[in-house]
Amino acid sequence: MQKIAVLTSGGDAPGMNAAIRAVVRAGLYHRMEVYGIERGFAGLSSESKMKPFSLGSVAGIIHRGGTILHTARAPEFKEKAVQEKAVRYLREAGIEGLVVIGGGGSFRGAHALQDLGIKTVGIPATIDQDIPGTDRSIGFDTAVNTILDAINRLRDTATSHERIFIVEVMGRKSGFIALAAGIAGGAEAIIVPEIEPDLDQICRRLLEGIDRKKTHSLILVAEGAASAYAIGETVHQKTGLETRVTVLGHVQRGGTPSAVDRLLGSRMGAAAVELLRRDSSGMMTALRDDEITAVSLVESFTGEKVFPKNLYELSLVLAR
Ligand code: ATP
Repeated sequence: MQKIAVLTSGGDAPGMNAAIRAVVRAGLYHRMEVYGIERGFAGLSSESKMKPFSLGSVAGIIHRGGTILHTARAPEFKEKAVQEKAVRYLREAGIEGLVVIGGGGSFRGAHALQDLGIKTVGIPATIDQDIPGTDRSIGFDTAVNTILDAINRLRDTATSHERIFIVEVMGRKSGFIALAAGIAGGAEAIIVPEIEPDLDQICRRLLEGIDRKKTHSLILVAEGAASAYAIGETVHQKTGLETRVTVLGHVQRGGTPSAVDRLLGSRMGAAAVELLRRDSSGMMTALRDDEITAVSLVESFTGEKVFPKNLYELSLVLAR
């Protein structure tokens, strides 16, 4: 394979740039030409969106959040006619292999291109960590660290005012971010979509904490489980305690990627090039038991992502 291209799609995630850099540098190392396509699948239609990468063009990006290729949501890419147009465009440009860096939706698009004859490999990158087939996705670790930083700040002010702080975090329909940040941040309660919350028990514990002269408490709510405002209102009504709500929003997506995400992006970027070189397309790079491996792209959107119930149970033991 001589000529490959890379794009980023769906929501941006810190560490995407490390993955782009690794695709480019590993590709050039193996004497391939590597092209960058801007704005995800939306960029697969106009030549102005494709540009060749050189070694130097990915210098100074490993520490930057976001993606230098920009990303986009392109719902029209679900249509076969649009996919076929993209295939024609890639063929005319002489692209033999494509690396798609993104989340589950992006891999449906990647799989469609693979079916239409473009050799395609996926790299999982989403802060939500909700992609089946891989233990980790790029961006999750940084997002959890960003939330911990916010929690540390909130605890300072919560302690001073003796209040219950309720923090809503991202994760779409999954509670992986809330669970990890909740345990690492010492939250008194964690509310996730995968498990029905027992609000009476949570309120009882908050009141017991006050009895033990606890000055403040923190509840982490995954956006897919409930609105933090609704939880705040319920807790206030059931306990009479003063609550304050913080919705962290898009700050969770930004920031300089953590070492873990830079390393994961670097390993997966190089692995994606290796898969194309070995003619193993239709696959997604994956981390399993700390080893980089590959699973079928289909598994990334049809497989089941198992919620770590044992970690959730640990959070119930530790949160007092
Ligand atoms: P994140 O988890 O960060 O949101 P994602 O990749 O899941 O990332 P989506 O918006 O679901 O984000 O998908 C990104 C893009 O992938 C869509 O805008 C569209 O271009 C393409 N896509 C999504 N679903 C399909 C599909 N069923 N067929 C073809 N292309 C798709």
